[in-house]
Amino acid sequence: MTNQTANPSSLNIPPGYLNIMGYVDESQVNGPGCRAVVWVQGCLRECPGCFNPASWSFETNQLVTVDELADKILSNPRNEGVTFSGGEPFWQAIALTQLAKKLKAAGLNVMSFSGFTLGELRAENAPAGAQELLEQLDILIDGPFVESLAINSPHSPVSSRNQRVHIFNPAFKDKISWASDQIEIHIFKDGSRLITGFQGQMNLSEG
Ligand code: SF4
Repeated sequence: MTNQTANPSSLNIPPGYLNIMGYVDESQVNGPGCRAVVWVQGCLRECPGCFNPASWSFETNQLVTVDELADKILSNPRNEGVTFSGGEPFWQAIALTQLAKKLKAAGLNVMSFSGFTLGELRAENAPAGAQELLEQLDILIDGPFVESLAINSPHSPVSSRNQRVHIFNPAFKDKISWASDQIEIHIFKDGSRLITGFQGQMNLSEG
């Protein structure tokens, strides 16, 4: 793990914007049901074996407004919820909270991964807006990926044994439908492909 005391929340992302690595609709392997997935850009941890090393940089990748992203997610009626992955979602907690509020108001559920533990997210030195984002979540998967504890199994909803599934909304108690060994391939109209799975990875290849 690298320096977690630096605070990239202060990086120059304009208020009301998110810096994202990628996005997909209608995923069925990144949480319960059918959902959009937003991969945010930027993570400090550099976990060995990370599925998305391209997400580590905090340089601007794709800047999108919260409103644009909310409209995009809501424009697909098959999206029942959204999952925030990364990268580290909690470094952009303020804008993700705004997005989560808009989506919840429209009846969608919200889940997030984090490399922080729940205890760290509730601590005083947590990233800005962490508590507010936690209040919006139906489900949190917390803890960093630890390669020596990796698990790839149809019976595990986490990809590393130290991670925990926190179900804040009891309606999701019996809806742990995903498993860490699942992947899916999205093929887009331009021929590009996106391969993703519950391990959180997002591999994009051009057509
Ligand atoms: S596994 Fe997750 S927490 Fe670890 S470096 Fe990759 S994106 Fe960051």
